[in-house]
Amino acid sequence: MGESDKKNAVQRGNFDPHTVFSKILAEELPAEFLYKDNLVTAFMDIQPITRGHALVIPNIPAIGLSDLPPETGAQMFKIGQKIADAIKASDIPSEGINLFLADGVAAGQTVFHVHLHIFPRFEKDGFGWKLPDRYFTPPPREELREAKDAIVAAMSSKA
Ligand code: AMP
Repeated sequence: MGESDKKNAVQRGNFDPHTVFSKILAEELPAEFLYKDNLVTAFMDIQPITRGHALVIPNIPAIGLSDLPPETGAQMFKIGQKIADAIKASDIPSEGINLFLADGVAAGQTVFHVHLHIFPRFEKDGFGWKLPDRYFTPPPREELREAKDAIVAAMSSKA
């Protein structure tokens, strides 16, 4: 295993193809299913941040975003949007909704089967983002431009 493979394995949390979500898809573990089609499945998160916290996952064991066929990613977002609308229309308290996806250990991913979180938000719900100090001093525009150039270059080399 080369250095970059090792780094990748750590970043990917030493991928176990038999994640808890694969077991849920195989119905070897229980779940409160919300939705299923040929691409994605949605069920309730076992440790809800707020009441109504749901997850949408691909039916294939994709670890992270780069393993996800784009049409499956699009369907995850489409169903996430549908669930968000349903939460708002239900009697579950929600003054807002967060959609969140952690891609990689550094981003907070703990289950290595990519998943989109959908959870209701309301004032004093106890959830919050911790922002780094740098956030409060916006960088010079040059820094934004350099980052933009790097991303655009990578996008065009992949196209
Ligand atoms: P993340 O930290 O973004 O990888 O989120 C993983 C999520 O999976 C957490 O919110 C967990 O509560 C949730 N989770 C773990 N095991 C189960 C399970 N058996 N059923 C439903 N949700 C689960």
